[in-house]
Amino acid sequence: NNIVVAIDGYSSCGKSTLAKALAKELHFIYVDSGAMYRAVTLYFLRHNIDLEDHAQIADALHNIHLNFHTQNHKTFITLNEEDVSEEIRQMHVADKVSSVAAIKEVRAAMVRQQQRLGRSKNIIMDGRDIGTVVFPDAQVKLFMTADPKIRAERRYKELLPTNPNITLEEVFDNLAHRDYQDTTREESPLTRAEDAIILDNTDLSQDEQLMFAISHIEP
Ligand code: C5P
Repeated sequence: NNIVVAIDGYSSCGKSTLAKALAKELHFIYVDSGAMYRAVTLYFLRHNIDLEDHAQIADALHNIHLNFHTQNHKTFITLNEEDVSEEIRQMHVADKVSSVAAIKEVRAAMVRQQQRLGRSKNIIMDGRDIGTVVFPDAQVKLFMTADPKIRAERRYKELLPTNPNITLEEVFDNLAHRDYQDTTREESPLTRAEDAIILDNTDLSQDEQLMFAISHIEP
């Protein structure tokens, strides 16, 4: 049987960095579920989809085709064959993604695709509901947290090269806002699965996080 490692947690607390390192170490496939919600959000923005209009949303979801590709050890996501990996990281997408991710039909469509991705291969998937909803039977579940100020600083440094006008405050507010929306939404709110191991990485280096995770995967 294939193995699933589920990593959930708040925004920007190092889930994808750890997931990528783990995938490399274990030769598993890494799937960034947040990128899927971001790509859907980008499509909704481009097509002016009304988030209250369920018929429009269903129609849009029907026209959205997402795929992950790997080239030179880098994974990227395509939206209807277009590489949108860079654009989905921009603030205009980050500002709207949690509202889009709260929509029931959007979640149902994403969860279905995510489960399909994990059906036949060993994968590491990160997100908000992977250990609770997408793969409740995952062999390994991690729940990551970190100090909100540290998270904002890390994300700010990542965004600055491509967003020279961005401020730390703006990044902090976006993370706080997304955490609030993600933990209070009706549909699969962000919460720790009962059997998830907590990893607070406020004071841990990336290597230390990797060691911690590996020790729980290969006891
Ligand atoms: O992981 P990332 O920060 O890129 O995710 C962007 C947004 O997508 C989150 O703030 C959350 O609203 C949504 N998301 C989700 N469920 C997931 C992954 C992401 O609701 N499994």
